[in-house]
Amino acid sequence: MKIERLLKQLHALEKQSRRLEPSISNRKDWNQATQQYADQFLDNIEERNAYDVPPEEMVDLLAIEETPKAMPELLNWLDQVVDRTGLNPASGGHFGYIPGGGVFPSALGDYLAAVSNRYAGVFFANPGAVRMENQLIRWMCKMMGYPETSLGNLTSGGSLANLIAITTAREKKGLRSGMVDKAVIYLSEQVHHCVQKAIRIAGLGEATIRYIPLDERFRLRPDALEETLKADVATGLQPFLVVASAGTTDTGAIDPLDAIADLAQAYDLWFHVDAAYGGFFMMVEEFKAAFKGIEKSDSLAIDPHKGLFIAYGSGAVLIKDVRAQFDAHYYQANYMQDALDMQEELSPADLSPELTKHFRGLRMWLPLQLYGLAPFRAALAEKIYLCRYFYEKVQELGFEVGPYPELSVMIFRCVPESGDADAFNEQLVRRVREDGRVFLSSTMINGAYWIRMAVLSFRAHLREIDLCLEILEREMLD
Ligand SMILES: *Cc1c(COP(=O)(O)O)cnc(C)c1O
Repeated sequence: MKIERLLKQLHALEKQSRRLEPSISNRKDWNQATQQYADQFLDNIEERNAYDVPPEEMVDLLAIEETPKAMPELLNWLDQVVDRTGLNPASGGHFGYIPGGGVFPSALGDYLAAVSNRYAGVFFANPGAVRMENQLIRWMCKMMGYPETSLGNLTSGGSLANLIAITTAREKKGLRSGMVDKAVIYLSEQVHHCVQKAIRIAGLGEATIRYIPLDERFRLRPDALEETLKADVATGLQPFLVVASAGTTDTGAIDPLDAIADLAQAYDLWFHVDAAYGGFFMMVEEFKAAFKGIEKSDSLAIDPHKGLFIAYGSGAVLIKDVRAQFDAHYYQANYMQDALDMQEELSPADLSPELTKHFRGLRMWLPLQLYGLAPFRAALAEKIYLCRYFYEKVQELGFEVGPYPELSVMIFRCVPESGDADAFNEQLVRRVREDGRVFLSSTMINGAYWIRMAVLSFRAHLREIDLCLEILEREMLD
């Protein structure tokens, strides 16, 4: 009778659990409502603010409860509480941090990847998906001048990409815990903070970190690096890793990669390049020369959710010695034994901390295929020229500027005739945000407050730059 009771329970549970599979008409309704919402968002994107000051009082969250809610209610909540408050990274007026925008087909890629829920972690489970992801990685490797044998991993962003590279470097260089306090890591003063974060997470927090001084354009000085290396070797320390940037977040500076590569080779350092922001400018022939030497690096981080305008959640690490990456990440599990028979392609699960993962290749592959490369190239060149245009125009308004933009990020500030310049610029940024049509962020350079102009949203065109100039002019006069 045990079985009969069990069957009765099963029937009851199945009736409930089958509700997780929507009926066709249910699915159509949800699809339609979602699509309508997305269309409404995009149809008015130019009118939407780049920033909406969040309301003072906390909004009520929708309770997570037993009973279902209807899609319109949920979308309405999303609209009010999420999509109309704070920063709007989809706006072409977003000039803060490092924008990107999020091209529409990457949303469709995510949708399809989630609908079929294909598993892209292990080659055996889905050869097509893993081949596609590895193809994307190899495409980027080729762009960077890496050999065909290189690979890497599609990550959630630049932070994880840097972490995988640094972990790989640690393993390849055989850095055991007892040796960490003798190891030396060389960074630029303008290094992105996620590199320091990765160093600590990778267990290298006790290594010595040398911040190499910069030249007048905020680039790491190879002569200073060499001096420091010599001194460290002389005192019995172990130079281990040097991280350079191909496009710093603050000012868009590209470190002299070629000279750093030579030093890395001479001193047997792992050479990692953080190209999270700047990497994709390599797609434009005209700007490639500035990256000379990037091909000599051991690893690099690059963010498709920046320079390729993919929606947030797309980074990549490229590693020349893929064997080292594999050795640093691979584990075998008994329940994974079926997967071992097929090793035609290396699997993401063996090259990263992830096992079950989002099929994130699709969100990058679909836009590249649907658009072809030409509009991406054009958009990247456009962003550099827009930044140069802004560089000229903002000076006409009376602003001081930092170095001439090598890429599409630059700094500027106003020095008023009297009063505290930092406070003045801080207030200016706040007022631009309150206006909301464009968004600017700021940074501290050598103790002074600077406003940043970061042009990388694919929706940023001349109209948006002129709008920004117009707002700055008005706010400055007020
Ligand atoms: C954005 C950025 C990062 C961090 O990448 P995430 O994708 O935000 O994790 C690292 N380095 C540089 C130079 C960046 O611009």
